[in-house]
Amino acid sequence: MNAKVNSADNPHRARNYAPLPVTLSRGEGAFLFDVNGRRYVDMMSAYSAVSHGHAHPRILKVLTEQAQRLAVPSRAYYDDRLDAFLTELCALTGLDVALPMNTGAEAVETAIKAARRYGRRVRGLKNPEIIVAEGNFHGRTTTIVGFSSEPAYRDDFGPYGGGFRAVPYGDLAATEAAIGPDTVAIMVEPVQGEAGVIVPPVGWLSGLRKLCDERGLLLIVDEVQAGLGRTGAWFAFQHENVKPDGVMLGKALGGGVLPVSAFVGTRALMDMFTPGSHGSTFGGNTLAAAVGLEALHVMRDEKLVERSRTLGEHMLRRLRNMDSPALRDVRGIGLWAGAEIDPRYATGREVCESLCEKGVLSTVTHHSVVRLSPPLVIAREDLDWALDRFEETLAEFVERARPAKRALAS
Ligand SMILES: *Cc1c(COP(=O)(O)O)cnc(C)c1O
Repeated sequence: MNAKVNSADNPHRARNYAPLPVTLSRGEGAFLFDVNGRRYVDMMSAYSAVSHGHAHPRILKVLTEQAQRLAVPSRAYYDDRLDAFLTELCALTGLDVALPMNTGAEAVETAIKAARRYGRRVRGLKNPEIIVAEGNFHGRTTTIVGFSSEPAYRDDFGPYGGGFRAVPYGDLAATEAAIGPDTVAIMVEPVQGEAGVIVPPVGWLSGLRKLCDERGLLLIVDEVQAGLGRTGAWFAFQHENVKPDGVMLGKALGGGVLPVSAFVGTRALMDMFTPGSHGSTFGGNTLAAAVGLEALHVMRDEKLVERSRTLGEHMLRRLRNMDSPALRDVRGIGLWAGAEIDPRYATGREVCESLCEKGVLSTVTHHSVVRLSPPLVIAREDLDWALDRFEETLAEFVERARPAKRALAS
């Protein structure tokens, strides 16, 4: 069983990812280590799932102690951990009722079910419709990819059921125009992550809230990636002082060690769930609840939200000051940036491969956008070191393009 498998050539590995050529075996804080012991700065934190850093001691302690006591009793019984977790989620979001699941996509599915039932039972709609945004990413279930605008996510996985209408992201007027008699909810990401870290115009989310209030619609905000400090606030909706009717959480909620998600909503919305109407074998298990609660407490005790805001301002300032022709655009908020690479110099993938060789791990989203979202616990000097490597990489691609350009000119 010790035979070396070259992962990239393993015929038993489904091809739904294209990993960078690095084989990791250990993580600690903002660092990852490969099988040869080489150290990398993690500038991606597993798509924000590892905001607490790898192997956080407090989270590992709860994980191992709780695992030895009770892990998965099922939701057929009460346990002594889940309630504290759900109560904390409601206190933090300012909402009334929380329903725990495992993955982000499941939290989104839970929101869709709640909204549709609310449409039928409270609003009396026959075919409740949910308005979503173009460029959305809410997960990978067949319902969710059915309203994606990204061909790679949705092509040939249909037939799809309908019940969604897409409008341009950040466009209040287009959203208002799309509201029809069957509209029950507007469901959006407060910042679009997978679309390339798209930060909407100021006033858009509060405008949506106002629109929903005027038209009797639910506002549902997907904070699976944006929530829990990533944008420099506990939740991105707080930047606009908005109170949504429902919020999806996930990723960092599992403290970087478990899949833990939740849909949290107002009582009127969550009352749509009655015994037997929804559930999950592992959702809200005792181990997940204990780890999720500790993840929230660590975030509070270590002031990770404030760190995200101050370090994020520093990171964005540095990125915006890199005046490289290879850098087409820098977008971001909090400790979360998308650096768009000019394709005349390199693809996003080439930049990530070069960063990897230098000891910095990141990924590309939307072909040309390099994602920079380190764990919120990263030290400022490690962040600066990684940003130095990024700047160096850009300079190398600009230098490499030079002879070709000269040849073209002559
Ligand atoms: C990652 C993500 C999801 C899906 O979460 P999974 O845990 O991968 O199912 C949903 N919404 C947003 C905004 C995300 O970034």
